[in-house]
Amino acid sequence: MYDIVIVGAGPAGITAALYAARAGKRVLLLEAESAGGQIVNARCVENYPGTPAISGVDLVDQMLLQLRELDLTPVSARVMGLRREVDGYAVLTDRETYTAKTVILATGVGHRKLGVEGEAAFIGRGVSFCATCDGRFFKGRDVAVVGGGNTAAQDALSLAELCRKVYLIHRRADFRAERRLMDRVRALENVEIITDTAVCEIKGDFALQAVVLRNLKTEQTRELAVSGVFEAVGNLPRNTDFESFVTLDKEGYILTDDECRTSTEGIFAAGDCCQKAVRQLTTATADGTVAALAACRYLEEQSFS
Ligand code: NAP
Repeated sequence: MYDIVIVGAGPAGITAALYAARAGKRVLLLEAESAGGQIVNARCVENYPGTPAISGVDLVDQMLLQLRELDLTPVSARVMGLRREVDGYAVLTDRETYTAKTVILATGVGHRKLGVEGEAAFIGRGVSFCATCDGRFFKGRDVAVVGGGNTAAQDALSLAELCRKVYLIHRRADFRAERRLMDRVRALENVEIITDTAVCEIKGDFALQAVVLRNLKTEQTRELAVSGVFEAVGNLPRNTDFESFVTLDKEGYILTDDECRTSTEGIFAAGDCCQKAVRQLTTATADGTVAALAACRYLEEQSFS
């Protein structure tokens, strides 16, 4: 039986594993996809203290190296749910069932989709959610980035290095993205910013050929020829497998207290999967720390009771 099973090897889960292992606990870190979470999509992380300008992939590699020094490597398994046991929890996965005295949920978030006509047919054939991963397939082509946050701005910056033209399409005139990022985007000659505009259809035959745009002020529609669409329209929680154990808010994020405790004793949650105002790398690692130390304290209390 593990002391702590951590679900999700993004920055929150990795940090929780680091603290728990250093506290001498028996830890299992589970990840359904590749380790690192959303941050591996970041072309350049510039706001993680002590680590000037580093790619998300390199930063995650360093985090994993730090874990390996503690003999910890994420185990590949998709967690399907939990079951209450006499002395803890069974963690049910697509591989095997693990038992744990405590569980830390660090499930992160998934990509929100536009949900427009044509989108489903072109996912993986022109519609992408990761410019860092898929940008090279669009070298020399014209592409659209949809969204107004930091991800959209970073995607536009990285795609502008590869593509002939990048259209940054946002539904409002104001961007959520940091001003510093947007200043860099605006300075690029091959980026055209299209505001107050929605993508209402994605079209093509075998390959993606165009998006249909609707100006939200004038209601006029037009077609824009592009070979790729990078959707950066935010994230959605994926906590439904745990909803019988932890209370979720109406959007599906896990409710926690200031020690990352959930509504169920022995289950903690950390990072972007939790209800919170700020979802950043720094807040995820902070949560990972708090959750691991709270879980360690819980284990100690249990051993005395
Ligand atoms: P985000 O900040 O939630 O922005 C999502 C954007 O998509 C918003 O501009 C939103 O428009 C737009 N949007 C949402 N639904 C849409 C729809 N159905 N159709 C069209 N547009 C839609 O998401 P994000 O950029 O992925 O960032 C997520 C979190 O990670 C944020 O906290 C962000 O700061 C953080 N992050 C930080 C960095 C960094 O370097 N600091 C890099 C990447 C991400 P509205 O603005 O109109 O709502």
